Amino acid sequence: MIVALAGGVGGAKLAHGLTRILDPSELVIAVNTGDDFLHLDYFICPDLDSVLYKLADINDTERGWGIRDETWNFMESLKKIGGEDWFQLGDKDLATHIERTRRLTEGQTLSEVTRALCQQHKIAHSIVPMTDHRVGTVVDTKDGDFFFQDYFVRLRCEPTFTGVHYKGMEEAVPAPQFKAALRDPSLTAIMFCPSNPYVSIDPILSVPGVFNALNNAGVPIIAVSPIIGGQAVKGPAAKMMAELGLPVSPRGIAQHYGNLIDGLVIDNEDVDLAEQIMATGIGVQVTNTLMKSAEDEALLAQETLNLAATLSRKGS
Ligand code: GDP
Ligand code: CA
Repeated sequence: MIVALAGGVGGAKLAHGLTRILDPSELVIAVNTGDDFLHLDYFICPDLDSVLYKLADINDTERGWGIRDETWNFMESLKKIGGEDWFQLGDKDLATHIERTRRLTEGQTLSEVTRALCQQHKIAHSIVPMTDHRVGTVVDTKDGDFFFQDYFVRLRCEPTFTGVHYKGMEEAVPAPQFKAALRDPSLTAIMFCPSNPYVSIDPILSVPGVFNALNNAGVPIIAVSPIIGGQAVKGPAAKMMAELGLPVSPRGIAQHYGNLIDGLVIDNEDVDLAEQIMATGIGVQVTNTLMKSAEDEALLAQETLNLAATLSRKGS
């Protein structure tokens, strides 16, 4: 069994590749919920929805987020009457937020709601939130602290990044299925999808108990670099690394995760860095990591599984 940690769009692509190789009983996809927020009284889970829409094959590949063939009647009407229009909500997407909010208000946990949405979309693989508790990623910048959506959407990631902290994390515990998967005797590897290390993967690692559970699981931990040829495929990961003074390359990714990872999958473009990274005790696989098609996703997923099969957990 494999546990994959995923943020939104980057994570969803590798997770999708893994679903093409692994049976539903062989994979648990644990998703960041640090970006979740309440908007217009609806509970919005951007990363869970990116993974959900991708695995349901209804995601919009051109826009890069949301649902394909979306319409925007609600948004246009809202704008006309002076409503809050800084966060885009498509008509189809809105249905997810309304139904999720209804179920949460009824008393279901976020895990239960996510399971129900997966069933409705006929997704057989398990998508689980990192936690059922409400937590919020706060981005620290030279201009002050901002909740993730504020930094990302309103400020367009412009302020200089200095780090993150979380609201409500002390009381959080991992979602039951995530916790159980990390203890499952049939667990063979843990994958960090090519998601943003700071605002997608680190929030998952920061849920109390998760870091130790990963560290002690005794199985190799493999990351896929979200940085290719000195750039992020999308989003602020490269800018954040540069602002923290890290090399904007898979080397910086290796440095960031440090001893926690046993292997790193890097792109063909970065082949020259393989030796330096291996010298730090991390196993490296060089391959195409830019996922433009379902075939790319499955090939990368297979390479990631192959690397895991050749490695063992440090010290075990
Ligand atoms: P978000 O929450 O939607 O921003 O999604 P993630 O955190 O999961 O993914 C964002 C990260 O994924 C960015 O750092 C991108 O560079 C990376 N990414 C997106 N697509 C790809 C891809 O095809 N290959 C690789 N290696 N990284 C990708
Ligand atoms: Ca996200």
